Amino acid sequence: MRQPLVAGNWKMNGSRDSIKALLEGLTAGMGVVKTAEVAVCPPYVYLAQVAETLKDSAITWGGQDVSDQESGAFTGEVSGSMLADCDCKYVIVGHSERRSIYAESDEFTARKYAAAQKTGLVPILCVGELLEEREQGITEQVVARQLDAVIEMSGVQSLANAVIAYEPVWAIGTGKTATPDQAQDVHAFIRGKISSLDATLGADVCILYGGSVKGANAAELFGMSDIDGGLIGGASLQAEEFLAICRAPDAN
Ligand code: PEP
Repeated sequence: MRQPLVAGNWKMNGSRDSIKALLEGLTAGMGVVKTAEVAVCPPYVYLAQVAETLKDSAITWGGQDVSDQESGAFTGEVSGSMLADCDCKYVIVGHSERRSIYAESDEFTARKYAAAQKTGLVPILCVGELLEEREQGITEQVVARQLDAVIEMSGVQSLANAVIAYEPVWAIGTGKTATPDQAQDVHAFIRGKISSLDATLGADVCILYGGSVKGANAAELFGMSDIDGGLIGGASLQAEEFLAICRAPDAN
């Protein structure tokens, strides 16, 4: 039985004061969240504040990115061991904003995934197609290529300690959500691909949906058989909206 996970990606948003208020709202409302594990991924500089505030709560936390390197002369980079030192459980790897804005390749993303796992972090590996790729009918090819880069470098068994997030790029931050059926089709494809390599892994791997999820559409999306929760951007910055999403798995 897979436990649903709802993870908030705060991206480059927030201040000490706004994060204090957001965390107060989340911790106060967590009592009504029954089924899902809840995680938040703040900007690096606020991880210590988040760790201190959430240490006795049920909410877990993670980084939004990780270096492919372990330590040393890599100005601006943050290593997996540093994130682990801030008691992160998760780290987002291969978000489409890293892939498209910063031109990070499948191979580079796979190195980050491997570096994260080496330090005991659970990577949340983002995969997903651009609008033109969906229109060309190559969504499955794109997602398979992104997954294969990781499987080739770290092996399929590495997915036992990872979460996958299917995020169609055209749905991220655009207000355009994939329909539950569109999302389910790709989730089923991902699960089937992993199952063909290892049936138990395929059945157990947690696959999140991301792309303009809100309180109003979360229950329908998370109700699909291969969707195990969500990676939430904009809506994770508002406590009430994020909590509504976190409660959505309770309805299913
Ligand atoms: C994301 O950034 O991972 C995301 C899904 O963003 P949004 O929910 O704002 O579309």
